[in-house]
Amino acid sequence: MGSSRMPVSLRNTLAATKASSKGNYLNLGTDLLRNLIFFFFLLRWTRKAALQLRGRGLFGTTVDAYTSIRRTLYGIFLRFPGVRSKVQAQVNEAIAKLEGKLVPKGPGVSRYLTLPKEGWTEIQVRGELEKLGEMVHTRWEDGLVSGAVYHGGDSLIKLQAEAFEKFSVANPIHPDVFPGVRKMEAEIVAMVLAMFNAPAAAAGVTTGGGTESILMACLSARQKAYTERGITEPEMIIPETAHAAFRKAGSYFGIKVHLVACPAPSYTVHVPSVSRLINSNTILLVGSAPNFPHGIIDDIPALSRLALRKKGSLPLHVDCCLGSFIIPFLARAGFPTVQYDFSVKGVTSISCDTHKYGFAPKGNSTLLYRNSALRTYQYFISPDWSGGVYASPSIAGSRPGALIASCWASLMSQGESGYISSCHSIVGARQKIETAIRENPSLRDDLSVMGKPLVSVVAFTSQTLNVYDLADAMSAKGWHLNALQSPPAIHVAVTLPIVAAVDRLIGDIVAVVEEEKEKERVRIVEGKGAKGGAKGDAAALYGVAGSLPNKSVVVQLAGGFLDTLYKA
Ligand SMILES: *Cc1c(COP(=O)(O)O)cnc(C)c1O
Repeated sequence: MGSSRMPVSLRNTLAATKASSKGNYLNLGTDLLRNLIFFFFLLRWTRKAALQLRGRGLFGTTVDAYTSIRRTLYGIFLRFPGVRSKVQAQVNEAIAKLEGKLVPKGPGVSRYLTLPKEGWTEIQVRGELEKLGEMVHTRWEDGLVSGAVYHGGDSLIKLQAEAFEKFSVANPIHPDVFPGVRKMEAEIVAMVLAMFNAPAAAAGVTTGGGTESILMACLSARQKAYTERGITEPEMIIPETAHAAFRKAGSYFGIKVHLVACPAPSYTVHVPSVSRLINSNTILLVGSAPNFPHGIIDDIPALSRLALRKKGSLPLHVDCCLGSFIIPFLARAGFPTVQYDFSVKGVTSISCDTHKYGFAPKGNSTLLYRNSALRTYQYFISPDWSGGVYASPSIAGSRPGALIASCWASLMSQGESGYISSCHSIVGARQKIETAIRENPSLRDDLSVMGKPLVSVVAFTSQTLNVYDLADAMSAKGWHLNALQSPPAIHVAVTLPIVAAVDRLIGDIVAVVEEEKEKERVRIVEGKGAKGGAKGDAAALYGVAGSLPNKSVVVQLAGGFLDTLYKA
């Protein structure tokens, strides 16, 4: 009777208790588990929120949230049926225009889309190669291209081709078959280590390019953190001006990338912001010497102090891909320099491109580590593969021994004296351009140099003119300079071919600034708006699409560009 008046739930509970104490444990167990999971996630999200707040500050976090909301809303707007088709049409039009420029078509163009039925004679092949080399192009030979071609001198090209020919079939994956290539590769690494003041225990590898060197440095840091500290959610902190290859590494290897601002006037990475972003998941700090956009060297000693402050210390990578064979010779060529290499205690790895100012053919770079344990973390070893025990140092399997031989030949033929002399010419030309922008009465009121460049790159903005219009006007004069964004700017990476054309470059910059100022005056007199007239490529890409809150249109355009590269 009593039991019939009991609340149902209580009765059930009692019954359950009586029926099976095991069931009760189960109940308790699931409750406990549910609560534990709940608290686990609460803790996780609280920790994440706390780290975000500490890392970016209240203001930074608010700005981040605002940017993210704006991006999402704009993304939704872009997907509205009317908007979407309009955007798609414009993207398609831009890509078609690009294809028209890059992919030659028409009756005069022979296209080879299948193998020739019968192999060509050598004369035929040579004749066609000649034509391909002569296709209308931006004249790097006349020094009109920023970066890209770092030497291009006839005698070095000839020597490189000879080395290539001699080792054409060589592959360092078979050191017993090609002992000479193994020796040359080890010597390239030793020579570059010596240039960067490496300690005796240091080690290194050659890679297929700066990007691969950077990917491997990030991978090594990630594997080290996983092995030694059990880090499964790795994060790295990089200057926003650091090369895109670090973002690629983040994307390929699942490393969260924190970007740190590099504010004016120095344009070096803001070290206190780096400090605030360091947490228990941090696996790597990064600095550039110098960076690609502005040619500015980050404060490596300050980053080193941060890296060493952490218990057990954090890895610090210095990207000298661009500084390569210029920055180590600055002092000996009579230019001011700063500390950036292994003589700075906290620096654990350095990437240095032999295919930039080392003047080796493209497909050559080096990655240096303070000790060989760091190098081991980038190795890939598969002991039980049916194809045999497999071990390779980096991404590639087979590698071109011919490129290693050409690299070795380049380094040996230039020597210290050669690199000091090219450093002298290249940095001297950079100074000349910089001085013209700062002091030439026709330039100094309209252009301004970004930061204090010490190496081969000089970047400038304009306080009065649209820099992208300037870049397009320079293109119309046959130049290929680099347009930069956030903030809008242009840079010149001086190479040996540019050294020979530096006066023409300065003259043309003066001329286009005059032209653009004249256009501006006409606009004002005729009462037209700031915009108007056909926009060039740089202005169209960076001026319009670049300012959108959501970059999905730019991503579509860039994807279309990549597709175009494979249109035969
Ligand atoms: C060129 C460059 C790299 C590497 O680029 P690759 O094209 O892969 O050789 C890395 N960092 C900087 C600063 C560079 O200028």
